[in-house]
Amino acid sequence: MPGNPALETAWRDLNRRSAILWLLFFGCIPGMFLLTYLLNDVLLQEAPFFVVALAWMGAIAWAGSRMASFACPRCNRAFFENWYFFKPLRRNCAHCSLTRSARAMPPPAATGY
Ligand SMILES: [Zn+2]
Repeated sequence: MPGNPALETAWRDLNRRSAILWLLFFGCIPGMFLLTYLLNDVLLQEAPFFVVALAWMGAIAWAGSRMASFACPRCNRAFFENWYFFKPLRRNCAHCSLTRSARAMPPPAATGY
């Protein structure tokens, strides 16, 4: 089955966004200590730990919002959000149920339920 280039571009973009988010998320503790160490001991910047932690939280929020703003390639609405949920682990679109990493774009399933 030939892939759909627009879809592949969209999934690649999504994978990059989610990789950044999970990297920041799971790298949070070691990353913050490493950054504090680099700033204070290597660059002699006297950066308090909480400033680094705050910046890290900001980075996670930024990555999260980038992920949340990913638009579904089929219905062009926010893939991970409906009106009150943001689920970064979901495997299909919140609006049209398009499966993540789908190779082809099936017509929208009945959404009138
Ligand atoms: Zn969709």
